[in-house]
Amino acid sequence: DKILVSGANGYIAVWIVRILLERGYSVRGTVRGTSKGEYLKNYFTALGYGDKFEYVIVEDIAKEGAFDEAVKGVDGIAHAASPFHDKAKTPADMFDPAIQGTVGMLQSARKNGPNVKRVVITSSCGAVMSPPPVPTTFTEKDWNTQSPKEVEEQGNSSPPMTIYRASKVLAERSAWAFYEEHKSEVKWDLTVINPPFVFGPFIHEASSPENLNTSLHSWWKVAVENTPKTKEFLSISNAWVDVRDTSLAHVLALETEKAGGERIITSSGPYNWQDWIDVVNSIKPSPLPSHTFPTGIPEVNTGEKVYLINYDPKKEKELFGIKFHTQLETVKDTLEDFAKRGW
Ligand code: NDP
Repeated sequence: DKILVSGANGYIAVWIVRILLERGYSVRGTVRGTSKGEYLKNYFTALGYGDKFEYVIVEDIAKEGAFDEAVKGVDGIAHAASPFHDKAKTPADMFDPAIQGTVGMLQSARKNGPNVKRVVITSSCGAVMSPPPVPTTFTEKDWNTQSPKEVEEQGNSSPPMTIYRASKVLAERSAWAFYEEHKSEVKWDLTVINPPFVFGPFIHEASSPENLNTSLHSWWKVAVENTPKTKEFLSISNAWVDVRDTSLAHVLALETEKAGGERIITSSGPYNWQDWIDVVNSIKPSPLPSHTFPTGIPEVNTGEKVYLINYDPKKEKELFGIKFHTQLETVKDTLEDFAKRGW
């Protein structure tokens, strides 16, 4: 089978492509420019998949018909392209590519993808919740209704992460709505993967930490570079997943019949920033000897820990049963990865 992966040069997407190739699929990746495509071509050729990987250029995913050519001849689709950064000046900067990109992919699949059996979309836990004031366990039934409302009220002065979360809510909602409206006309169904923060080793193109994607860059800053050192910051909690695990979930979503029509949270569990710092300092000898790691404020974790954001793992367990990487495994692999690059 041939699978189309959009935004193939992204942190999560390159792992999706690699896992697909390792499992015997052919892959067509979309990228915005030739140099990004050539990086991937070289990377996958070096791994021995040169004849199974091709890339096509899709410059603007928000443009009508952007994926019309890209979907031709594929059997399945993983749509991962969507902006994740904190530089949006207006909500539209993020909403347009997030929403139009997603709906556009489905329109193209409807029009030109007669062999497509399943479309998997990378949504986010940002579409499930907005950070709660008290510890809460969320499930796939939950929707983040707050972020879109806040953006509506605050417009251009909305915090970038609120705009980002809202973009994921609106994009995922649009995908389900499109599917409901057109399901009788298509032979495919839809599965949505909702990852929390994604960390772990990277294989996309990044010549320095500053060029990393948003989530891994924030991990680098806190766990390796030592910013900032306040109790308030270090006890901020969220949930996380290793990039290899959530990417595998995308592939299993393409392969698992029963995953059709489901949104699926893929979370390893909760963390606070001090947890990561503690794990980084626990590994001896250090996998990244070039750096003296921050120690944060260890007292943050001496009392009872409070994690505000928790996810019920039931659906993922039933459908996929992924053996998630532990924090220790992820940290070790990530630091070794940084070391290999001479960082
Ligand atoms: P990356 O920034 O590494 O990848 C994003 C990809 O989307 C890149 O290929 C990028 O292209 C492409 N893209 C972004 N904006 C546009 C646009 N306007 N037009 C065309 N292409 C665009 O991010 P991740 O791998 O982290 O994210 C991938 C997906 O996973 C996104 O949908 C994101 O919302 C979701 N996600 C990520 C999480 C995380 O913690 N990393 C958590 C939950 C969900 P280019 O490189 O050319 O900019």
